[in-house]
Amino acid sequence: MRLDVGQLPLVGGHPALDLVNTLERGAALDGKPPHDFLSDTSALLRWTVKVGLISDAEANRAGQAWLDDPAAAHAGLAAVRDIREGLHLVLLAAIQPADGGAAGDPGDPAGGDPIAAGAALVGLHERWSGAAARATLVLDRGDPPQVRLTYGTVAAMLIPDRIAEAALDALRTADLTRVRRCPVPEGGCGWLFLDQSRNGSRRWCRMADCGSSAKARRLTERRRAARAGAP
Ligand SMILES: [Zn+2]
Repeated sequence: MRLDVGQLPLVGGHPALDLVNTLERGAALDGKPPHDFLSDTSALLRWTVKVGLISDAEANRAGQAWLDDPAAAHAGLAAVRDIREGLHLVLLAAIQPADGGAAGDPGDPAGGDPIAAGAALVGLHERWSGAAARATLVLDRGDPPQVRLTYGTVAAMLIPDRIAEAALDALRTADLTRVRRCPVPEGGCGWLFLDQSRNGSRRWCRMADCGSSAKARRLTERRRAARAGAP
């Protein structure tokens, strides 16, 4: 049974990495397209609230704007999917090969494709520039007073603009040496996450899920090999 977007575990450590993980990654699934948890604009609205990029009130505003203008809704979802794939390419290219030897393994694209990543950065910059052009500077007269840059002033573009802001934040402020990919060659799911463990040794997106199912699979394989080797 497939999870609804509301039940999707958030393992990325940053909304931008969680965005990458809204699409099934990893091994090809017998020619079937990977499942997209952002299946429609309603799923996207719920996900964006869930990760805290917009409030409930903002979701109502964006949702109403999308109801009034279905073409804008379609464009908004397409923009988010575009940002998602750009982020995936750039983050894969930022991952350092584990033990210096995994690069080149088709199941483990550590090191990514630098040319594709460069092109993706151009696309991400365009998305972010559009978002920045729609952003406003607001004086917050609190103590101390602050001028804040607020993204998402145009309701129909609120969600893609907040997501573009989050993407840029991840790329510019996250520690990219901590980006990991749940290891597909060992049975992991290919999701990305920021390893925030003290010694940087986290391997699985979710130990309770990918880590333990990979362990179970290894055990089965060992037993099978032992049986095959028995006289
Ligand atoms: Zn995983």
